[in-house]
Amino acid sequence: MTEDFYDTLGVSRDASEEEIESAYREAVREYHPDVSDEPDAEEKFKKAKKAKEVLTDDEQRRMYDQMGHEQFVEADKRGATDSGGARGGRGGDPFGGAGGGGFGNMQDIFDQFFGGGSGGGGSRRGKDLKTKLTIDLETAYHGTEKELTVTRPESCDECNGRGHPPGTDSRTCPECNGRGEQTRVQETAFGRMQQRTTCRRCEGEGTIYEERCSTCRGDGVVRNEATLSVEIPAGIQDGMTLRMRGEGAPGEGGARNGDLLVEIKIEDHPEFEREGSDLQTRKAISFPQAVFGDTVELETFDGVVEFDVPEGTQSGETFRLGGKGMPRPQRRGQGDLYVQVQVVTPDSLNEEQREALEAFAEAGGENIEVEQGFFDRLRNSF
Ligand code: ZN
Repeated sequence: MTEDFYDTLGVSRDASEEEIESAYREAVREYHPDVSDEPDAEEKFKKAKKAKEVLTDDEQRRMYDQMGHEQFVEADKRGATDSGGARGGRGGDPFGGAGGGGFGNMQDIFDQFFGGGSGGGGSRRGKDLKTKLTIDLETAYHGTEKELTVTRPESCDECNGRGHPPGTDSRTCPECNGRGEQTRVQETAFGRMQQRTTCRRCEGEGTIYEERCSTCRGDGVVRNEATLSVEIPAGIQDGMTLRMRGEGAPGEGGARNGDLLVEIKIEDHPEFEREGSDLQTRKAISFPQAVFGDTVELETFDGVVEFDVPEGTQSGETFRLGGKGMPRPQRRGQGDLYVQVQVVTPDSLNEEQREALEAFAEAGGENIEVEQGFFDRLRNSF
């Protein structure tokens, strides 16, 4: 069994961000390579850092919880889980790459404590965009392809996203001398840190253009309506987020687009209640069915299923129909369906039924007084 990120930090699966931060700080004090002589301290430190990074990022944490440790780490290696531009270039080893001398780690800590690390440069991955999509439970059961219309920023066609008409006169940005970034020196708890930021004057391009594109007013970006097709996997759960690669805001300077994150909301169903991958429902059965036992039919999302209620079933008893619940996303098989039976008391009887029930009550012997009174009332109400 692989240790997951929660184990690494020694926190529960519903730990708050503060708890995670504090567990991480403890790990730093214990395992930071500059303070610990333990042979595997560095490995532990990197692992704690990665765990904290993922679990304090709402979106990454949700993905992590959904995908499970193994799959998440795999996806992370492929670079599929990075959510922000600042992380774009890292990819690689989920635990921060090989080697890592003292300064590298200190830089990492600096980023963690001060939220720094906004690297300059003209090429930046586009922002991730978020939207919501509501589906019903039956759709979640089967999975489907759904159309989704979003209004989002897209690269301006008029100027190809450059923000200026082709052939516009240009000059080197005097603010950054064409480098596109500026360096700032900051005093911190760890000494002097150099921080590089994007040049504000030329917004990282290094060049200033004399004319702006009239369509996008120089932004290179316009808002357009787009209709996309979303693949909804069978068994999707309420609150899960689907990531549509490259459907977010356009990247700058040729960098790739951000992603569109589609949060799925699932409406309550009038008959079926969901608990993870299990479903719960109720089924009415008659008094004779409960007494003698019977095979009962039940309408599900997958057609009619049958189950047996035994002799002497009580109202409120629950039966488990294995494998008849929701499909499990990313795993094989289905959850279970729990059916609570409710014995229906007849609210009107014909003559024959009434006599039969009277005879039944009389045959019961000791309760005859009470039952008699009941049937008297019943008779009077006709
Ligand atoms: Zn334009």
